[in-house]
Amino acid sequence: MSKYAIRTCKICGLKKPANELYLRTINSDLLKGKSSRDINMWTFLGDQLGDKKSSKAISEWLFQSSNRKYSASRTKQINICENCVVSFDNSNNLSGKNSSNFFTWAIVILIILLILGG
Ligand SMILES: [Zn+2]
Repeated sequence: MSKYAIRTCKICGLKKPANELYLRTINSDLLKGKSSRDINMWTFLGDQLGDKKSSKAISEWLFQSSNRKYSASRTKQINICENCVVSFDNSNNLSGKNSSNFFTWAIVILIILLILGG
């Protein structure tokens, strides 16, 4: 019988054999904080005024958003012990995908409306 390597729970710091920990994938953006490529309403305004930097930022942001799910560089695997995994999964379900998807689609619809309106 081979022994499992000791890993550390990313949330509470408990050390346990790897087979007793749960592996979870997180978005590394959450650890790094705000991306420098993030855009806001002023970027869209700049795009409408013909600012080339804003147009570039928007297309980069849209590209990045649509590929976020599949990009390995933006996700990270962490070990979580059984005490922490339930709360981690719960908070992930509550604060995660739905709201950011809604935001993405709201922006896409806004762009379409702006293009049609102009
Ligand atoms: Zn833990």
